[in-house]
Amino acid sequence: MTAPRVRFAPSPTGYLHVGGARTALFNWLYARKTGGTFVLRIEDTDRERSTEAHTRVILEGLAWLGVAWDEGPFFQGAFGDRHRADAERLLTAGAAYRCFCTREELDAQRAAAERTGGGFRYDGRCRRLPAGDITARLAAGVPFTIRLVVPDTELAWDDAVHGRISFQGRDLDDFVILRSDGTAIYNLAVVSDDIAMRITHVIRGDDHVSNTPKQIALYRALGAAEPVFAHVPMILGTDGKKLSKRHGATAVGDYQDLGIVPAAMRNFLALLGWSPGGDREIMPEAELVDAFSLDGIQSKPAVFDTVKLEWMNGQYLSAAPADTLLPAVERQLASLGVASAGRDLRPLIDAVKVRSRTILQLAGQVAVRLEGPRGEPDERATALRRKMGPAFAHNLSVVAEALSAVPAAEWTADVLLERVKAAADAAGLKLGDAMQPVRIALTGSTVSEPVNELLATVGPEASLRRIHAAAAA
Ligand code: GLU
Repeated sequence: MTAPRVRFAPSPTGYLHVGGARTALFNWLYARKTGGTFVLRIEDTDRERSTEAHTRVILEGLAWLGVAWDEGPFFQGAFGDRHRADAERLLTAGAAYRCFCTREELDAQRAAAERTGGGFRYDGRCRRLPAGDITARLAAGVPFTIRLVVPDTELAWDDAVHGRISFQGRDLDDFVILRSDGTAIYNLAVVSDDIAMRITHVIRGDDHVSNTPKQIALYRALGAAEPVFAHVPMILGTDGKKLSKRHGATAVGDYQDLGIVPAAMRNFLALLGWSPGGDREIMPEAELVDAFSLDGIQSKPAVFDTVKLEWMNGQYLSAAPADTLLPAVERQLASLGVASAGRDLRPLIDAVKVRSRTILQLAGQVAVRLEGPRGEPDERATALRRKMGPAFAHNLSVVAEALSAVPAAEWTADVLLERVKAAADAAGLKLGDAMQPVRIALTGSTVSEPVNELLATVGPEASLRRIHAAAAA
């Protein structure tokens, strides 16, 4: 068997949707797993809606995700001559015909069909035009489209995901493959390109299932072998409705901006509609590639659960060496306006990464440990403060008094722990009731590394300033 050739064929008419990214990822995983080739083809034939900006966003999104193509990007718009040649070849072979029906005539036929309650199917009248009639219309320069003769046979395939799917040719009409301006309709362009690029497996969203019988008819008419089709399930929000902007971010770039790291996004997307079997969840790239197969793609829709994505991202952040997180954290600090030049951020990243779910949270907590402003108290911190009542400020002043007595040269985690313990004992406070308000005062959060380490990182001046400010608030 020759090595598989797969492709991702986005239309650059919008941003890179997570569904598209998942399709790209499945193709890429399949190519990596089988030693095949992953082709990227930009389907830019919708000239009005395709833009270079969208193309750029798609390419950047794939690069960010680590989904690298082996061939391309090819631009479908460059293949117009081949699309036309394929249509003409079908015309010559009698597998297609010219249709001179005008838009008005087709509208009238559609209206008539609707009046009698039937759905509109083109009745093939131009197929029966006498040769002389055709020659005369061509000589007069009457515009025409080209339609495929759809045979009255079964058009079926063994879908790698859904099993056997069957349509009847008689239920389809002779669809247009070439417009009167000589440009190809989607189904012809895709099949012509997939044949020319020797694509063996078409892995795409199952919104394309209804196109597949038409494409099979084209493969047969063009005398080309049909590829394996694998239609991957659609993606739903947690409410069971098709994933859309109502559910929040749907663009890959949005997740980058929200502080998701590529490895986590890739792992999460891979498990949307594909399962390695068992209950494995955290699977780095090599494990995904190793376990991937089309058999593992499920036919039922997948649910996009952002809580799970953030959890998974947290797992990747915890495990990542600080060095690899550094560039993203520095970028985020810069956008927060927090100066970090000259500081080694790595120990700070290590201190907070296990408690962060996104780069934004992580950088926010690093900022807190730099000269940056204290984070606003989050929901839990506010609730705890309310629950403690006056004890919150009281306990802070107990700790502040003890800390003020520590000389700057002795401001180390060990000394600080000892002093705060002694002060809490003397005041009859549990250590946690003394420490937790300090944690909130310094970070705005109820979770962090041990408070004495936090105090050591933030330093005497900023620590005391924040404790006094929180006690007075
Ligand atoms: N360009 C089509 C789309 O973006 C994909 C075509 C295909 O995968 O066959 O929906």
